[in-house]
Amino acid sequence: MTETPSYLFYQSRNPRPFLDRGEGIYLFDESGKRYIDGSSGAMVSNIGHSNPRVLAKIKAQMDKATFGYRLHFRTHPSEDLATKTVEMTPDGLDRVFFVSGGSEAVESAIKLARQYAVTQGQGSRYKVISRFPSYHGCTFGALDLTGYAPLREPFAPMMPGMPKVASPATYLDRDNLTEEARGLKYAELLRDKILEEGPDTVLAFIMEPVGGASTGALVAPDSYYGRVREICDEFGVLLIYDEVMTGAGRTGKFLAAEHWGITPDIVALSKGFGAGYAPLGAIVAGARLVEPVLDAGGFLHGFTYAGNPLACSAGLAVLEELQDQNLIENAARMGDVLMDELRALMDRYPFIGDVRGKGLLTAFEFVSDRSTMEPLDPALQAHSRLVELAYERGLILYSRRTRGGTSGDHFLVAPPLIITKDQITEMMVILRDALDAFAL
Ligand code: PMP
Repeated sequence: MTETPSYLFYQSRNPRPFLDRGEGIYLFDESGKRYIDGSSGAMVSNIGHSNPRVLAKIKAQMDKATFGYRLHFRTHPSEDLATKTVEMTPDGLDRVFFVSGGSEAVESAIKLARQYAVTQGQGSRYKVISRFPSYHGCTFGALDLTGYAPLREPFAPMMPGMPKVASPATYLDRDNLTEEARGLKYAELLRDKILEEGPDTVLAFIMEPVGGASTGALVAPDSYYGRVREICDEFGVLLIYDEVMTGAGRTGKFLAAEHWGITPDIVALSKGFGAGYAPLGAIVAGARLVEPVLDAGGFLHGFTYAGNPLACSAGLAVLEELQDQNLIENAARMGDVLMDELRALMDRYPFIGDVRGKGLLTAFEFVSDRSTMEPLDPALQAHSRLVELAYERGLILYSRRTRGGTSGDHFLVAPPLIITKDQITEMMVILRDALDAFAL
């Protein structure tokens, strides 16, 4: 704990130790204490810390030019990163617009969708349906899409016409349906909502393919994804995948959408896309959407730092590293190892009620009773207690107390994609030790 006075504020005052340096999956504070970065920060540091090849490439760009405004110059890093991004995403996604973060990416996706609709003579379409729970960012538009009341309500009233449908939290369902039927049931909620709102007012549907901060690695039944795509097509509603957390290899594919063979109309990327080497994000969309907007006079949108060469050189080096080191395949393989380890925890700790995820985006959730899946008493402050017990022992976890936006302690375990089997073992030793201390 530091005594140094601070003029900074974030969500709260920041009592954490000073960060000194990072190396691979580890971070070190100024006392020399080592931490396993078990959640890659906030699912950011996909290729680990201080990657020498990436640092060398950023340095090389720094030595040439750190900034050139995109309306004054084209730059090779931004062009090359766009090319590589298109190469790594499914066919049909072949136009890229850069931003500096996830909320910016979501805002950009909505504005592109809206401008496209106007070019198609469909200016009446303005509603963006999102899900609860969900997290899409903290700017006003992205926050309004976020299905998590405690973050939105202090700012109400927000924008009009942003309807919500339930995320498929099937692990809480007590019906007798098969997984496939459950997936379809949740997809039909979207169809019902579109009909209720009036299809000619609905612009887009936005979803995290695997839920992140608000739900803890919530994966829908397979049947959900294809049916949602069909429903969007049926009503001419654009399908936006918020892959800010899931993208750039985190789930074992470059885009999580690839697990289900889905091509969204627009994809939002950030976090692992810059992997902590630069504040960077992007939207990727099809020429079908972008060209009419450009023909009609241009995309009326853009942030000052969009596509700056320094951030793009970092992003390019990150994607090259993902490819050269086969890190996406490693995420899939190590994700299976990690999932087995987490599932094994359920034999030892009765208060772990669910383990879930995809690739290296995994989570476990606490319950008071597995048969009812009732959450633990909020007064126990379970999520922050376990996070502190793990932190003391040198393991950083990302946790929230939200389920359905209201309750439930879940913990995201999402280490850098470079993690090895031995390092997973090392991480699990600390995690079990922290859980033992929690259970006392
Ligand atoms: N979308 C998703 C799915 C996210 O997880 C986040 C960040 N947690 C955001 C958007 C917002 O990203 P940022 O904090 O970089 O603005």
